[in-house]
Amino acid sequence: SGRSNPGGFLIEQRRLEKQPADLRVGAFTEITLKPTAAGGTAQASRCTDCGVPFCQNACPLQNNIPDWLALSADGDLREAWRVASATSTMPEICGRICPQDRLCEGACTLQQSGWDGVTIGSVEAWIADTAFDNGWVEPIRPLAERGQSVAIVGSGPAGLAAADHLRSEGYAVTVYDRHDRAGGLLTYGIPGFKLEKRIVQRRIDRLVEGGVEFVLNTNVGVDVTMDELRSRHDALLLAMGVYQARTLGVPGRGPNDTVAALDFLIAQNRVDCGDAADASAPHAAGRDVVVVGGGDTAMDCVRTAIRQGANSVVCLYRRDRDNMPGSAREVQNAEEEGVRFEWLGAPKALMSKGVAVVAVRAQRMALTEAAPGQRRDIAPVPGSDFDLPADLVIEALGFEPEAFAEQLDANLGLTRWNTLQVARGGFATTLPGVFAAGDAVRGASLVVWAVRDGQDAAAEIDRYLRARTEEAAA
Ligand code: FAD
Ligand code: SF4
Repeated sequence: SGRSNPGGFLIEQRRLEKQPADLRVGAFTEITLKPTAAGGTAQASRCTDCGVPFCQNACPLQNNIPDWLALSADGDLREAWRVASATSTMPEICGRICPQDRLCEGACTLQQSGWDGVTIGSVEAWIADTAFDNGWVEPIRPLAERGQSVAIVGSGPAGLAAADHLRSEGYAVTVYDRHDRAGGLLTYGIPGFKLEKRIVQRRIDRLVEGGVEFVLNTNVGVDVTMDELRSRHDALLLAMGVYQARTLGVPGRGPNDTVAALDFLIAQNRVDCGDAADASAPHAAGRDVVVVGGGDTAMDCVRTAIRQGANSVVCLYRRDRDNMPGSAREVQNAEEEGVRFEWLGAPKALMSKGVAVVAVRAQRMALTEAAPGQRRDIAPVPGSDFDLPADLVIEALGFEPEAFAEQLDANLGLTRWNTLQVARGGFATTLPGVFAAGDAVRGASLVVWAVRDGQDAAAEIDRYLRARTEEAAA
């Protein structure tokens, strides 16, 4: 068996081959080429089964990585799939878009001891893609209908993961979303070059085939009240994400001078989902684009702008490369594709000619000496102003929660960050029978955490509803 492979590290690490940058910027499809069976097996067999699964502990889902690597190394992908899917409702998605360098792969013993770590994410996606291709992905078939129903507000990864588990347990599940398509940020945030739409769609299709009902184009709090949902269903899960975009507070910024990152990304994602292009939507073709921000959203915007045929694309970020929140892998991809990074540059004003913005005035920042035990801060360098030509300025400065209590119920408890308040160690909000999960609770986070929350919240809702059934029977 390949279970113990002490010499595994001697096999060369091979990251999935990427399409050359000049080719990939012509499309919104994923940039990596699929592994061959031999390649996938070889990479899986690099795991030395070190005995201390740091990778598993660093995975928010506690995925049983050493076991599915060993099974893949043995060529038993079907069993590897069974193990991988036992802890995750969407391994093919996490395998593609988790920041593995900060999670499983960063903790890999090989990586830690100076060898290249195991390419865990791409093996995970390969196992799951193989399972879909071979029809090993089981349909959802509850053993028995439980006769109770759960409403899920929000069809992002948290909502979808919960829907999967609750439906499998036999609950009637209705997912409400204000968008016209399900998937949350998997569909309308994350671009196709990181995660193709068909990968998300086949997950949604599986839920629909398993009996999950999707009620789309329905803004809860506007089109239907939360009270109505509470009277229609036995429990509720709020998985609405965070969507209040932060904006630039600089002189010269009029209401129509900038574009919000998500408006920009949604327009392209719609086209990738098959909609006709909307001529009034923001588009980068022929423009000089400046994206302000340094997170995942900024990376997705710059790479989308390049693909739309921008004249130039600059990412303006006030800290340096080592202190940016976005993934290093994405910065590298963006640079290869022709994005220019202005590190340690902070926007100072928007410059206009007539009604049109023509430049972003920025100033250089410098890292300050850190006080003992503290992170280095940044401070402006006097007299260092510079102008970046721009006729499309995209704000990618992060997201805050919307006004949940105002939208849904004044008695819904919030934290001081305006996220939904839940009971310690669980998912219960301050309202009986109402639970919450994902970004709406954590603030802007990661897909893998949303999946974890959705799965765990489903388990808590199941316990809650079983207890109610027992009470009713007593
Ligand atoms: P969401 O995915 O935000 O889904 C919430 C859903 O609720 C949405 O569909 C919304 O329409 C719906 N909704 C909200 N309010 C209502 C209402 N009142 N009524 C009805 N429906 C409502 N994470 C990674 O791990 N890797 C990445 O590469 C990555 N890239 C990202 C790129 C971008 C551009 C962004 C914005 C985020 C990215 N993230 C990434 C973060 C990740 O997408 C989120 O952490 C994750 O999607 C959160 O899942 P969620 O289910 O909590 O919420
Ligand atoms: Fe790594 Fe993410 Fe997969 Fe966990 S879910 S094994 S962190 S890629």
